[in-house]
Amino acid sequence: MASQDMVLERWVYHPTVRRVLSMHHIQAETFLHEYATEVFDYFVQVIHHKQQIGRCPAITRLLNFCIAENITVADVYNLCIHFREALIGVLFEKDAMHKALFDELSLVFDANLTGLLQAYTATIAETQKQAESFQTIIENSLNEIYVFDRDSLRFTYANRGAVENSGYSADELQTMHPYDIKPFFDAAQFRDMITPLLNDETERLVFETIHERKDGSLYDVDIRLQSMRFDHKEHLVAIINDITEQKKAHRLAEDYLMNDAIIHNSTDGIVSIDEQQRITLFNESAEQMFGYTSQELIGSSLDTLIPDELKTRHRALIRVFGESNQFRTQMANGRAEVKGKHKDGHLIPLEVSISKSKVDGKWFYTALIRDVSERHAAEAEMRRLAKTDWMTGLANRHHFDTELKAAISYARRFPDHKVGLIFLDLDHFKDVNDTHGHAIGDQLLKQVADMLQKNVRDFDLIGRLGGDEFGIIARGIQDQHDVMRIAEKLTLQLSQPLQVNRCSVQIGVSIGITLCPEHGIDQDRLMLQADQALYEAKKAGRNTYRLYKIENT
Ligand code: GH3
Ligand code: MG
Repeated sequence: MASQDMVLERWVYHPTVRRVLSMHHIQAETFLHEYATEVFDYFVQVIHHKQQIGRCPAITRLLNFCIAENITVADVYNLCIHFREALIGVLFEKDAMHKALFDELSLVFDANLTGLLQAYTATIAETQKQAESFQTIIENSLNEIYVFDRDSLRFTYANRGAVENSGYSADELQTMHPYDIKPFFDAAQFRDMITPLLNDETERLVFETIHERKDGSLYDVDIRLQSMRFDHKEHLVAIINDITEQKKAHRLAEDYLMNDAIIHNSTDGIVSIDEQQRITLFNESAEQMFGYTSQELIGSSLDTLIPDELKTRHRALIRVFGESNQFRTQMANGRAEVKGKHKDGHLIPLEVSISKSKVDGKWFYTALIRDVSERHAAEAEMRRLAKTDWMTGLANRHHFDTELKAAISYARRFPDHKVGLIFLDLDHFKDVNDTHGHAIGDQLLKQVADMLQKNVRDFDLIGRLGGDEFGIIARGIQDQHDVMRIAEKLTLQLSQPLQVNRCSVQIGVSIGITLCPEHGIDQDRLMLQADQALYEAKKAGRNTYRLYKIENT
């Protein structure tokens, strides 16, 4: 076996072999121990049998080792050629006689070697092809794949997916670090996070974070980070999955749930229709408002909820809104009132705001609907109260003035339709209060108001102008006799004892009258004139009426 050792030593310590081994950081001793002995045996057999003896497991191992260590075909050839020289040299160098044998055996060795090298080249080509196809897969992966250095943390590789999604060029990325694309990490924080990986405490880190593109836009990512050994070195490889769509879907699902809750709990009616104006959504509040269940209406025409006379206009409005650039519109602005039709046929005043949205390329319209009947009733009541004397229900002073103004302007345009302005003041009303108390006094005022109402025509207006003072605007008066007749009737009626809460109360009324346009067309003057006439009636002993006389002024 001395010759074996010599061969191997010669071989392994041959400068070329040493260069190949050291280039690949392979210890000569390890190499000797691991492969050379087996290879020696193999070649001894090759030489002795002077023919190829087939693929030997040791050679396969050796070649696999060379492939793994990235040793080139030329270097493998060098290893073998030098092995041949060492082998044949040791075996035959002292024996000049065997020169011919040496040459012959060299031929056998070379023939075997050529076969081996061809096989090796083919394997390498295959491996390279595989590596290239892996490379292609990695390069074309939709994931972003980055490789970065464990120490400097600088990127050493970024695939096309990384370049395309991040917006940085491959060259730019080569100068960057993972934390440069992570807006929520700086270098120290990033290093802290990957410490378990750097310390080999874990094989892989999986986490979700946010990445920032070159253009500043952010996107959600899922990251798998692991340490991998290749090119004789440990690298960190990050495989990044853009989960923006996934997150969006998640958020959409959350939005959907929230919208669903809003739709079902909204106090506003919510009704959606499609392009054909068929109902696609009808929430609980809409059910209460219109008296239909959603099952009854889904799929049927919106027309069901629209009063007959508004159907054509309503369809046109929706069409115009559909074609407009607006996304939201209000259907009840100011006085324009929208009405819906209840299942039982009655009309409901509504306030409607409509928005449109595109789902899967089709337009949908959603109306938020509020039943404003109660509000309208309240507003009407407010308007009524603003015009009314709270105690008697007659017009108050303000409303009386407004109506008088309108009546005067009508009389000016149509002088045949005169206006009689009648002021009334109860006689000795204070005595009623003093004798029977204020409550009876109040009661009496209400009774007088009712009595006045009964004795004037519908188109006349009665107001309470002060404590026990009333006014009548008598419209459509032909001459003064018309008004005097009214005054006569009223004085007569009020001179009768009135029954108030079982008390018999005796009052009277004094009345002053002026006529428009006869006595003037200025409102203040007319009021003053009626007052003066009333004063005259009081002066004349009460319980009577006086017509304003022009000579009074
Ligand atoms: P005259 O015959 O001169 O009209 O005397 P009068 O007692 O009727 O007194 P006058 O018209 O000058 O005053 C009206 C009185 O009516 C004054 C006040 O005591 C009373 N009064 C005013 N408002 C109310 C009210 O709301 N309720 C009651 N009970 N009394 C009122
Ligand atoms: Mg009075």
